[in-house]
Amino acid sequence: MSEPATRSGARPAAHPTGPKIELHVHLEGTVRPATLLAMARRNGEALPSNTVEGLAELYRFRDFNHFLQVWIMTTNVMRTEADFRQVVVEYAAEAAAHGAVYVEGIFSPWYRVHRGVRVEEIFHGYADGALEARERFGVEVRLTPDIDRVLPPEQAAEVAGWAARFADDGGIVGLGLGGPEVGHPPEPYAPAFALAADAGLAAVPHAGETAGPESVRGALDALGARRIRHGIRAGEDPALVRRLVDEGIVLDVCPVSNLRIRSVPTLTAHPLAALRAAGVACSLATDDPAMFGTDLATEHAVAAGLGAHARDLYAAGVAGALCDEATRAELRRIGADTDWDAAERAAHAAAPAALARLDVTALDGEGSLR
Ligand SMILES: [Zn+2]
Repeated sequence: MSEPATRSGARPAAHPTGPKIELHVHLEGTVRPATLLAMARRNGEALPSNTVEGLAELYRFRDFNHFLQVWIMTTNVMRTEADFRQVVVEYAAEAAAHGAVYVEGIFSPWYRVHRGVRVEEIFHGYADGALEARERFGVEVRLTPDIDRVLPPEQAAEVAGWAARFADDGGIVGLGLGGPEVGHPPEPYAPAFALAADAGLAAVPHAGETAGPESVRGALDALGARRIRHGIRAGEDPALVRRLVDEGIVLDVCPVSNLRIRSVPTLTAHPLAALRAAGVACSLATDDPAMFGTDLATEHAVAAGLGAHARDLYAAGVAGALCDEATRAELRRIGADTDWDAAERAAHAAAPAALARLDVTALDGEGSLR
């Protein structure tokens, strides 16, 4: 562990539950109330509350519609290159504090652009934030813009075009598909993903979160998915599970998000362990940590409680990361240098409290960790 983890020489502090690779986090969903308030003040945007406490109460997860309202409120406040940069840097700091060494951040540019924000401000801001994250915290950040699956295919192609335009020097490594999955299958977006593939961008769509195995198959067949975000409902179809194993498709699993959205009734009913037992590679992520009241350490405690091994979660992250091979080799080296038995003991020790707190709060309809 004597060599620097990154080109800059910065190295994230070692974490008791080990190094972490997070492949599924929406940057808009990482903005904590204090940052949102500061951003709103400097951009002259009104918020429903003028205090951190008031916003924290508003952020408390209640149900999906409320989550969408908070999402819209948050994203509308983000307007300048400095905002987008700050969001990446602050999340990298938070993730590094939980042991993250590599993060793939998702962002949804279409609505920002169509509310008057220049495409360059968004993409340059996020890219600059990724560079600063590496320099200051030693966290490698890559970016994957997301298509909202309610967009018509021609507008989706517009997003793919932006992703392609910033692929070379903007840290863009893939293209995603998100939003309401039920009633919005992946197939109509095949042309947008073909355009991205021509630019060397991998397909990393959400699928199998709220819709079933057919959505995962569509993501694989029509979009050429390199990984699947969530993908937990693939477990309903043994043939699909075998295909995921055979093709080495990594699922980016977010247990607390699945609980909040009611994709699973309780964390103890989560299919992570069953998918792992079947041989499916699963990485672990937070999805929208500020809005779901979670963080990377909490997810790892939960996963340990579900029987997942930190070593396997990290290995799936290494396999699934959309990075250059030099970075992948470095991630592999960090994993090889880790005392995984100690990391697993620490995660196991934290598991009962995390599971009890989250499952109880879910039953109460209460979303806050505080
Ligand atoms: Zn997501």
